[in-house]
Amino acid sequence: MRTVTNNSPSTASHAPAGPGLQWVNSFAGLGPDFYTALAPSPLPSPYWVGRNRALARELGLEENWLESAETLAALTGNQPLPGASPLASVYSGHQFGVWAGQLGDGRAILLGEMQTHNGPQEVQLKGAGKTPYSRMGDGRAVLRSSIREFLCSEAMQGLGIATTRALCITGSDAAVRREEIETAAVVTRTAPSFIRFGHFEHFSYRNQHAQLKTLANYVIDRFYPECRKAKQPYAALLQAVSERTAHMMAAWQSVGFCHGVMNTDNMSILGLTIDYGPFQFLDAFDPGHICNHSDDHGRYAYNKQPNMAYWNLFCLGQALLPLIEHQEDALAALESYKTVFPEALQARMRAKLGLPDAQEGDSALIESTFRLLAANKVDYTIFWRRLCGFTAHSGHEPVRDLFFDLESFNAWALQYSERLAQVEPAQRADLMLKNNPKYVLRNHLGEEAIQAAKLKDFSQVDTLLTLLQSPFDEHAGHDSFAGFPPDWAASIAISCSS
Ligand code: AMP
Ligand code: MG
Repeated sequence: MRTVTNNSPSTASHAPAGPGLQWVNSFAGLGPDFYTALAPSPLPSPYWVGRNRALARELGLEENWLESAETLAALTGNQPLPGASPLASVYSGHQFGVWAGQLGDGRAILLGEMQTHNGPQEVQLKGAGKTPYSRMGDGRAVLRSSIREFLCSEAMQGLGIATTRALCITGSDAAVRREEIETAAVVTRTAPSFIRFGHFEHFSYRNQHAQLKTLANYVIDRFYPECRKAKQPYAALLQAVSERTAHMMAAWQSVGFCHGVMNTDNMSILGLTIDYGPFQFLDAFDPGHICNHSDDHGRYAYNKQPNMAYWNLFCLGQALLPLIEHQEDALAALESYKTVFPEALQARMRAKLGLPDAQEGDSALIESTFRLLAANKVDYTIFWRRLCGFTAHSGHEPVRDLFFDLESFNAWALQYSERLAQVEPAQRADLMLKNNPKYVLRNHLGEEAIQAAKLKDFSQVDTLLTLLQSPFDEHAGHDSFAGFPPDWAASIAISCSS
């Protein structure tokens, strides 16, 4: 770790940082209690592993920015980006239901904010070396987990799910010890803010109420300005975060996404999917599926995620209590989750079924669909995509082939066909094809790209990025990326270690 002493982060100066780039770092303006200023630690002989040129364009970066040797060096942490003021932030959190005390950016370094057409975007290097918050860790990320984070961020974005983004991965042959020796990589990721529930918990548990208020005001003023007008702005903030989180959870459940480590330090205050670790998209539909090999008790199983999000929001509410003052205001703000989540989930599931409006009986149909998929262990993504071609009178076969209990399937198909009779077929097909992806980042697809990348073939990372950025399109010639998982997929074990 190299600590920078003469590079105090500035909030006001706009220094150029590469062609067309203007940096600020408003987070740094919160003051020294919130972070440690330090530079990334270099890695030898870096090379490009993946580049997200679509995001580079969205950010307004010049066409050749991701092509230059200077950018490669800067985004590996080997040379400073002019005008950036790197820092690691401090936070705390509840991990697996237990108060873990101080954590922080143990291997993520915030460079600053780019000013983009979509407003300020913070830029972080993940895996860029030790920080004062690294605890026993090495401050590094391995190639395997970096490819997974890079691809999944963009897969979620492609699916229309709120997420942090990933601009590129750079790699180095430097050895990193995990269960076995692997190599290092750095993911450059962006988000309007990387603030977590755990940032609030940190100051609250230390009784640092002035800092807690500074943080809450910063988040309200930048991201939730409407809360300022509320009678109780901090309760309004809790409610707004609860609602965004509810929408994110509905989106996860509807696509069969399991996060794996929903600790409060991995919950974004903006309701973004953040910190991709042992995540998984369901193959066969199993409501109790546990994707994280280290999650012995299944705390973060697929069907527990919505309740765990509420549990985390409760922690956030508790952290905000010194500002909210009246407990009943905090509880009332949290209540919104209990209505917004089921409504958002119903809306997403109706769209997947091709039902443009809500009718009585729809929730029973959705429930019976989930029950049928679970009883028959049906491949979740393939079922929904095939269902787009299901019609009331024919076209049952590709869907029916997925089930072994045909009696139950026929009963369900009859119930669904009756409901479809009230929907205009073209409208239904259009709705379904926009809501049932053909491509998701299944574990085995990521694994194949990782194995090739370990041999320095990065072409599959590129191919997957293209498919996952528009997962609802057909992408002729790429059907093998949309098929059933191979038998070996079930034996992939992914744990917290990354
Ligand atoms: P996670 O559950 O992966 O989000 O990480 C929990 C905490 O451990 C966070 O504070 C991380 O910054 C830290 N951490 C995870 N991996 C490492 C590592 N390799 N080196 C240093 N800190 C780490
Ligand atoms: Mg984390």
